[in-house]
Amino acid sequence: MSSPIRHDWTPSEVNALFALPFNDLLFKAHSVHREYFDPNAVQVSTLLSIKTGACPEDCKYCPQSNRYDTGLEQEKLMEVEKVLAEARAAKATGASRFCMGAAWRSPKKKDMPYVTAMVKGVKEMGLETCMTLGMLTEEQSQELAEAGLDYYNHNLDTSPEYYGEIITTRTYQDRLTTLSNVRKAGLKVCSGGIVGMGEKASDRAGLLIQLANLPEHPESVPINMLVRVEGTPLADEADLDPFDFIRTLAVARIMMPASHVRLSAGREEMNEQMHALAYFAGANSIFYGEKLLTTPNPEANKDLKLFERLGIKPEERGVEHSDEDEQAVLQASLQQAQNDRFFYDATA
Ligand code: SF4
Repeated sequence: MSSPIRHDWTPSEVNALFALPFNDLLFKAHSVHREYFDPNAVQVSTLLSIKTGACPEDCKYCPQSNRYDTGLEQEKLMEVEKVLAEARAAKATGASRFCMGAAWRSPKKKDMPYVTAMVKGVKEMGLETCMTLGMLTEEQSQELAEAGLDYYNHNLDTSPEYYGEIITTRTYQDRLTTLSNVRKAGLKVCSGGIVGMGEKASDRAGLLIQLANLPEHPESVPINMLVRVEGTPLADEADLDPFDFIRTLAVARIMMPASHVRLSAGREEMNEQMHALAYFAGANSIFYGEKLLTTPNPEANKDLKLFERLGIKPEERGVEHSDEDEQAVLQASLQQAQNDRFFYDATA
């Protein structure tokens, strides 16, 4: 590999990457991408909100915080059987990983038996499992690992310098501690951030430096574009130049060459050309479904149709498939996508 895995990125070199002419940056990012990945494969995950709203935290972008009036209907923790039914349907559409998210500061003791039962049930179906439940202790991380959890999502959101403008109810160090607890338990890490929150380019660089200079790179790095939700403090935030979003993906690809860079929230506002550019810049994972927790996500069939037009195949992780198998999965997915029954509408 001519692009080694590094953990010693400095602000000056990362700022210099952001400052490259767009075509030079994309060429570099795409070249790195090809060293580590099939450029025509995109991993697909399905996300289910297992507990919606009433979160005590004050993340300024989030409609699930109980501090903002966004009209979001709160829901209690879903029943285990309902979660398993959603996972079964997601598997039938070709999703290889099932992510479950709860709007908590951290899970309480009484919640743990339910979430571990969900992990066990989903795992038994042969799907990879991922959860995002807020801050975790070492013991909770261990409990989830023993239940069969593969990934834990916990985002750093932005740079340490800008963080205080966005969240005041937990510290940057709290987040780093959770990531460290999760690693100690042997779980894989999904961690990224959000751009378009009024931060500077140097903050986007700062976020990526934090992620890339962790002792191990997160296996999955979601890069979200702010979804401006009415009622949240960031509802009127100015537009981010779409090319700055692509630049962030490209720099993430260069700095964490073996990680899946995930195109996450904000896809609803991105057109097909922007998606294609994002895949070229090194994004190779998406959330698929009608809702991304509580914000709109492009309809799954739109994604699959674009995959077809671009010659992209959904990546089947951990399972060997022939081209025919992959086509069959894609075909089944296209049919299933006509029917949104399986998509959990967190706001309904
Ligand atoms: S981002 Fe997570 S922790 Fe923050 S308010 Fe929303 S649900 Fe709560």
